[in-house]
Amino acid sequence: MSTARPVRAARGTTLTARNWQTEAALRMFHNNLDPEVAERPDDLVVYGGTGKAARNWASFDAITRELTNLAADETLLVQSGKPVGVMRTHEWAPRVLIANSNLVGDWATWPEFRKLEAEGLMMYGQMTAGSWIYIGTQGILQGTYETFSAIANKRFGGTLRGTLTLTAGLGGMGGAQPLAVTMNDGVVLCVEVDPDRARRRVETRYLDELVDSLDDAIARVEQAKREKRPLSVGVIGNAAEVFPELLRRGVDIDIVTDQTSAHDPLAYLPRGIDVADWHDYAAKKPDEFTDRARESMAEHVGAMVGFLDKGAEVFDYGNSIRSEAKLGGCERAFDFPGFVPAYIRPLFCEGKGPFRWAALSGDPADIAATDRAMLELFPENESLARWIKMAGERVEFQGLPARICWLGYGERHLAGLRFNEMVANGEVSAPIVIGRDHLDCGSVASPYRETEAMADGSDAIADWPLLNALINTASGATWVSIHHGGGVGIGRSIHAGQVTVADGTPLAAQKIERVLTNDPAMGVIRHVDAGYDRADEVAAERGVTVPMARS
Ligand code: NAD
Repeated sequence: MSTARPVRAARGTTLTARNWQTEAALRMFHNNLDPEVAERPDDLVVYGGTGKAARNWASFDAITRELTNLAADETLLVQSGKPVGVMRTHEWAPRVLIANSNLVGDWATWPEFRKLEAEGLMMYGQMTAGSWIYIGTQGILQGTYETFSAIANKRFGGTLRGTLTLTAGLGGMGGAQPLAVTMNDGVVLCVEVDPDRARRRVETRYLDELVDSLDDAIARVEQAKREKRPLSVGVIGNAAEVFPELLRRGVDIDIVTDQTSAHDPLAYLPRGIDVADWHDYAAKKPDEFTDRARESMAEHVGAMVGFLDKGAEVFDYGNSIRSEAKLGGCERAFDFPGFVPAYIRPLFCEGKGPFRWAALSGDPADIAATDRAMLELFPENESLARWIKMAGERVEFQGLPARICWLGYGERHLAGLRFNEMVANGEVSAPIVIGRDHLDCGSVASPYRETEAMADGSDAIADWPLLNALINTASGATWVSIHHGGGVGIGRSIHAGQVTVADGTPLAAQKIERVLTNDPAMGVIRHVDAGYDRADEVAAERGVTVPMARS
């Protein structure tokens, strides 16, 4: 019987699998479940509510065994976290193909999914949990940093200095918010219901201070705001109670968002329930719990709308809280926008998105070397330089050392080729894996998030992520995944991911060039097709072929 146990990826230069391509998949699979990385490793849960890396411990053992033995011309098939086949393919084919949580439209609901999950037939893959390229909270840190810096530019003269942000949720992703705000020189108050989660953010230096009392929290953030001193304060409480209370007290808040796991009503704690009773209650009475969670979310979002009415910058940060709150009776839930149409879409038009890489050696010096290489490669990009420098100083690695930054079409393959060269000539001590979030420019259909309010109304068209997965498979990615329900929940998104390994060989260089050109090209063509002028310009300037482009 396979049981829970601590998992840690192999380090160093000795292979445990048959080649570096499969070794990379094995190390990243294990890395997702490293206790430093995963939120609930014993349950195989990596992040984002119940996002898992493998369906159960028997599947974990079987995936480990198959990746260890897989040949350089074989492909492992994974269905919702369970290995279901090994097939003879060829060297250019992905070593692993993954499909997680996919359900046919009429069946794509949480109750149906949970029934199948309880029967042992499926798992929830989130975005990078079931596709083995989660790198801890840093993964979202830069996206969050970029989002807050876009808000600073839009509303506050380029800096958050002297502003106060209110948010909730200090989980795997949400935990990035305090550091992203203080990196933009602002003050932030973060409401988290589970003290253990909040403490973890203090331990990893994402959160400066943690207090129990709301009075104390308000005093600290108001003083820091007056002194224009960056500070993050966590307060233990339920956002459905604390947000309305802050509104009632008239605390002067400039920016409001939220990153509780609202996409899954069982992962959002309703008012009046103890953290200790949470999972038991949710498991025993899911329907009643869902109703109570939605009703609490309606209160929570109602207060967000109240702050909007008072002139604050308010946005949904990609967790579907508006749609859940609407189901809970908050009529004005969609009065404020999602973060993609509000701040990120212009970046998507340039094929920009979260490019990330990890050092399979486990040696932080390898990431330091790649950081230097990035600064040399893109000397004119000041915001990239600022980010890489700050990340080097302030980001604690979780699991295998890793880095993230947003790069666009025409940039990503240059970085990938440079990393491959560094592996080949020994500037780093072992291969580098290069991947990205499923939240990217051309890889998602998610009408409440990445594709909200598309110019041509194509929000729900999911052909694009499927084409994205197919082109990455055809271009030589090492593993490719197609998921449903990530970020915003079952029934609300379809998305694809890829990971490509720089092992220093000429073959890897050829694959990297194609994958890291074609993958962001999907973002450009998606936005050309939807009618965005900036995407037209990028396609024309950088030579992306779009057969029926307007210009
Ligand atoms: P998580 O499950 O690790 O953390 C959620 C946190 O919210 C937990 O710590 C939980 O205790 C807390 N929480 C739940 N109910 C609460 C309440 N009523 N009041 C206060 N705190 C409460 O999830 P995560 O990985 O941090 O992701 C959070 C959300 O963000 C998810 O919905 C996820 O899908 C979404 N997400 C957004 C992006 C993005 O780029 N914007 C990226 C990834 C994930």
